[in-house]
Amino acid sequence: MADMATRYVHRFGADIGDAEPKKLLGGKGAGLSEMTRLEIPVPPGFTIDTNACRAWMDTEGEVEGLDAQVAEALAALEADVGRALGDAGDPLLVSVRSGAAISMPGMMDTILNLGLNDETVEGLAAKSGDRRFAFDAYRRLLDMYGDVVLGVEREHFEGAMRALKGEKGDPDMDDTGLDAEALEELCRRYRAIIDEKADRPFPQDPRAQLDGAIAAVFDSWDNPRARRYRKMNEIPESLGTAVNVQAMVFGNMGDDCGSGVLFTRSPSTGARDLFGEFLQNAQGEDVVAGIRTPRPLTKSAARRGQAKDALEDVMPGPFETLSEIAARLEKHYRDMQDIEFTIEKGRTFILQTRTGKRTAHAAVRIAVEMVDEGLIDRDTAVLRVPPDSLEQLLHATLPEPGELEKRGVKPIAKGLPASPGAAVGQIVMDADEAEKLAEEGKAVVLVRRETSPEDIHGMKAAKGIVTATGGMTSHAAVVARGLGKCCVAGASGLDVDYAGRKVRARSPGGETVELEPGELITLDGTHGLIYRGELDVGSAATIPELERLMEWADGHRRLRIRANADTPSGARTARSYGAEGIGLCRTEHMFFAQDRLEAVRCMVLAGPHPDVREKWLAKLEPMQREDFVEIFRAMDGLPVTIRLLDWPLHEFLPREARDLQAVSQALGVDVEVVRRRALELHETNPMLGHRGVRVGLTSPEIYRMQTRAILHAAAECAAEGVDVRPEIMLPVVALAEELAALRPIVEEAAREALASKGAEVDYLIGTMIELPRACLVAGALAEHAEFFSFGTNDLTQTTLGISRDDAGRFLPFYVHDPGGLMEADPFARLDVHGVGELVRTGTERGRARREALKVGLCGEHGGDPRSIDFCHRIGLDYVSCSPPRLPIARLAAAQAAIRAETSDGA
Ligand code: PEP
Ligand code: MG
Repeated sequence: MADMATRYVHRFGADIGDAEPKKLLGGKGAGLSEMTRLEIPVPPGFTIDTNACRAWMDTEGEVEGLDAQVAEALAALEADVGRALGDAGDPLLVSVRSGAAISMPGMMDTILNLGLNDETVEGLAAKSGDRRFAFDAYRRLLDMYGDVVLGVEREHFEGAMRALKGEKGDPDMDDTGLDAEALEELCRRYRAIIDEKADRPFPQDPRAQLDGAIAAVFDSWDNPRARRYRKMNEIPESLGTAVNVQAMVFGNMGDDCGSGVLFTRSPSTGARDLFGEFLQNAQGEDVVAGIRTPRPLTKSAARRGQAKDALEDVMPGPFETLSEIAARLEKHYRDMQDIEFTIEKGRTFILQTRTGKRTAHAAVRIAVEMVDEGLIDRDTAVLRVPPDSLEQLLHATLPEPGELEKRGVKPIAKGLPASPGAAVGQIVMDADEAEKLAEEGKAVVLVRRETSPEDIHGMKAAKGIVTATGGMTSHAAVVARGLGKCCVAGASGLDVDYAGRKVRARSPGGETVELEPGELITLDGTHGLIYRGELDVGSAATIPELERLMEWADGHRRLRIRANADTPSGARTARSYGAEGIGLCRTEHMFFAQDRLEAVRCMVLAGPHPDVREKWLAKLEPMQREDFVEIFRAMDGLPVTIRLLDWPLHEFLPREARDLQAVSQALGVDVEVVRRRALELHETNPMLGHRGVRVGLTSPEIYRMQTRAILHAAAECAAEGVDVRPEIMLPVVALAEELAALRPIVEEAAREALASKGAEVDYLIGTMIELPRACLVAGALAEHAEFFSFGTNDLTQTTLGISRDDAGRFLPFYVHDPGGLMEADPFARLDVHGVGELVRTGTERGRARREALKVGLCGEHGGDPRSIDFCHRIGLDYVSCSPPRLPIARLAAAQAAIRAETSDGA
């Protein structure tokens, strides 16, 4: 409970002692107070602080002493501006705004022109000499107050406005078409609406208006939308909001007035030029509402945009003042500012300053240039760029979905943002056709229900990939990321009808369209959206400042960043993006090429004769070796972790008649025999079936062949002088006994391979940790493993019991916003409380048994900034991610290190 002496109300610029300004006064209040102290021209006012909000909630609005403090601050404000609230001749008008330390949806917005009533509006009319202006201000107050304080829905006011415009001849006419008399009539009608719809009248007493507005702000803290937002974002309920009461200034009292917004640097390129817009003779909300076309601020911007009459031309004095203030504010806050201003009869006022939102391009440039200007240090610069935003820079992109929606462009279907970037192409439903059309120079998008290894050539040929089913770690998603192709996976609104050669799409809004192969579509892989037709795709940018920023980031991170890559070209790309090794080379991906796929199928379907199987393995061995040679060369001096076969068998078995036929011919057995063998190998639940080391144990010749291929390649490279560092990894391990049985087999094959070449190469043997049991028995596993790599795709699948391939059906329900059951897709962002705890436990138990154990993570989470932060905190040695995410991961790892140091107080 508050005591009598508690000070709740602070005039802008007042001393608040040791209190943290944003916490006490909210973001807006702290900014206004700070600017007042800097002697920036801010209309005077006061803030009722967040302690008052807490007390309000505790006392249900009976905060002791608050009333008197508001009266006192109001009196001071009246003395300051020389006008009194409610004065019939020259009334003081104020704005009332909420302002918490963190802005959030659902909070009460702004009330302007508070203080007007039937009497003072006449005073304002007389004093300003502009009756239209006065009644326009009054109707705005009635509308805003009626809505946010008295709970009358806005549509009633809008309806009345349209009706009146209709009576004047045109319901769609501009507001400026209503004269003073019409606005006076509108005020009468608004009053009548309030009398009818609200449970209390519009208060004529200005002080009662103020009290009502203050109560509305405090009560809005508790509304369900704001509460939900706080819960989702872990914002404490005790934070509370402040209320800002500020003298109104008017930008709409003639041609020596105006309102606008200003950015201290370009929010799109980061260039060090003032950027902004203003409207002459207008209030701030008119600029935002976009009713009239605003003008540029500077002459040079006017020339570029071929506009006339920049602020610099029409009001040179205020422009000068504004430029000076902008420079001071930026220097003071040490960041690009977004400033709202009003010019009243030639006098400039600043209404708000805040950190300006910016594109990724601008963020990088501003951060680096501010270091050069001595405004911030390098760590601050590194922290200033959101890692995910680099995606915008490194890939072709579409405008933001909201931006497109404003232009009337809506997606025809929504799926998961499986692989970033944007692509335009004609719909193709078959991989062979995709390849054929691409060879003819056509841009195609491969649209499938799902993809399998049989589609790889089509995926490579396509500009982008769409699937109707599957999640963030489905075949399509993983392969597309590896190929650096844009992909929207699991677009459940799509019905891909192969037989009918049609794609039916149901949009998030429920509309359906039917598309045929050949029609153009545009993919937004960054947001998981599909558009009909061809949209403008921007190309990836090159920004010189990015290189410097990444250098600073690399200098600060502890986590190593490796890449998931399984082709020589993938390895080279990875190195160019700064990979410090390969964390996962999925050898089954090396079998995807058409000629190899057939050999693999023959090996699998060879039947019970080991000799026949060996024959097909022998065909594969040189292909594997050649790939490894190239990969080792690309990764000279860096570790390369190669995972022995972990096939999803179901993805390899032939389905189509022609594939069955090909296998039957190659093996020289009847096609029916092949079909039967394929059927026998069918598994109901292949993700939990015959995969990983289970294959290695039942068919050790496969792992022997792969080990030979790795070490022969390593020996060959070492002889060329390449510094090779192979790490052989065994997948899907549950038991220490599995490792104990397989390790000698691998070691023996390695020994033989090296002996046959007379070479000596150091290599490691380690294990993937993809099952909860493996995390729990990690100590025993560490006895047989020199390194661990957490495969958090499977670990998430097996810990949550959610199938990677089928999650798309229901997971969107779990993660929808707002009010979902989960904060994020657990296949994209590590579920730190569940899966993350297992990773922590596994790491601790493994290291307790083997101190030098190297520990990494190679699931898709290795490219997600929040998951990377967690990996840093639990002390992993590295994360490994798909090549396009490498710069993001590097930056995220640096930020994790800087944040950890700061929170340790180092
Ligand atoms: C994993 O399970 O996290 C992993 C990296 O392996 P894959 O995605 O190939 O199953
Ligand atoms: Mg796995």
